[in-house]
Amino acid sequence: MSADGRREIGTLDWRGSAGGDLLIRGAHALDPRSDLDRECDILVRAGRIAAIADSGAGQLPDGGEEIDASGLHAFPAFFDPHVHLRTPGQEYREDIETGTRAAAAGGFCGIVAMANTDPVVDDPAIVAALRERAEAEAAVPTGYVATVTRGMGGRELTEMAALREAGALGFSDDGLPIADAGVMRRALQYQHLVGGTILLHEEDPTLTGDGVMAEGAVSAALGLAGVPDVSESTMIARDGALCLYEDARAHVQHLSARASVDAVAIAKSAGAQLTAELTPHHLVLTDEEVRSLDARFKMNPPLRTEDDRQALIEALRSGVVDCIGTDHAPHAGHEKEVPFEVANMGVTGLETAFAALYTELVMPGVVDLALIVQRMGAGAGLFDLAPSRIAPDTEADIALVDLDAEWEAGADGWESRSDNSCFAGRRLRSRPVITIVAGAVAYRRREFAMKVAG
Ligand SMILES: [Zn+2]
Ligand SMILES: [Zn+2]
Repeated sequence: MSADGRREIGTLDWRGSAGGDLLIRGAHALDPRSDLDRECDILVRAGRIAAIADSGAGQLPDGGEEIDASGLHAFPAFFDPHVHLRTPGQEYREDIETGTRAAAAGGFCGIVAMANTDPVVDDPAIVAALRERAEAEAAVPTGYVATVTRGMGGRELTEMAALREAGALGFSDDGLPIADAGVMRRALQYQHLVGGTILLHEEDPTLTGDGVMAEGAVSAALGLAGVPDVSESTMIARDGALCLYEDARAHVQHLSARASVDAVAIAKSAGAQLTAELTPHHLVLTDEEVRSLDARFKMNPPLRTEDDRQALIEALRSGVVDCIGTDHAPHAGHEKEVPFEVANMGVTGLETAFAALYTELVMPGVVDLALIVQRMGAGAGLFDLAPSRIAPDTEADIALVDLDAEWEAGADGWESRSDNSCFAGRRLRSRPVITIVAGAVAYRRREFAMKVAG
């Protein structure tokens, strides 16, 4: 348990165990939650941070491993509240092992898997089975949400209390909205009773229609059907009002539009227990990319205008948006390498999230590095987990990142089974090189192994 009584991330299911002893020597540690921003040695004992010493002063305990981290940054490892691991039933796209390896490679120490699998996660027995599999296969701690409605049919609620007892961290029909306001209201009433949170994929199907990209100048020029921003923002306004009315808690996934930011801000200022999330791709890219008709720029919600993107960046800064989630959505080649109109929606994101944000937002001076680090860990809080910190007597969940690394995304392959990255082929700066979870090395880039002593 952490100081504020919340569970730590290592209490999720994974194949690792609390690690041994480590000395991380000479990293520049940056943790805005702990007010830490300096070069230091981090001593880890039995999986927990035992001490933070001046650089060069740390003593390695017998049998421990020393990591020479000079030239690297140490961040509290990231947490992704929004990942599609595709297990059960869609392992041709991704599975627990490949998806969590991609997470570890991206500097994440914890993820939450969505429930729109085949079958969908709408039964306590499925939650239990997935947790068992994660315990055997997951490279980083993994949590599960269950669906809000049976079969994601949008009508009949699942057994939310029993699903919570089986260990579901929350509920989501992500992939589909909960179109019926009455169903949404009853789901929120149950949430109030059983805890967790409800993660919302917000769109009004009657406004989305058969849209395949954002509605606007680009969709008009391309002659493609567009999705108006009000498809998202009107649903957020509805659900913000319902949360307030039922004193319930919900989380808006993947905001795409200025109008949506406004709707979240209004709900929050009225006192609703609403949180919100942004993806790296919505923060970095716009619908101009769709002019290429490359299906790697097709996702739901769609990329929108530069004005929308600016509003999202401002929401990240102001705190209207609480956290970053990747919406890592692997698809096989035959689902993406087809005409834009018929391609599946969704892009991968775990392995590029930090680097894309660092390259496109931090390096040009648009957003502070400390803010990105904070928001990339904050998703843990949605599930009453304590976000990672670099501070004595906390679990040692640390991402060691080389901010000077330059790489072409995808050039040396992916850990994910799928390669539908919207950043593929881009030159990116910065790369996680070692990810430590509960004091154990969950991921180490191959070329970095040479620099490790002990
Ligand atoms: Zn979604
Ligand atoms: Zn999603």
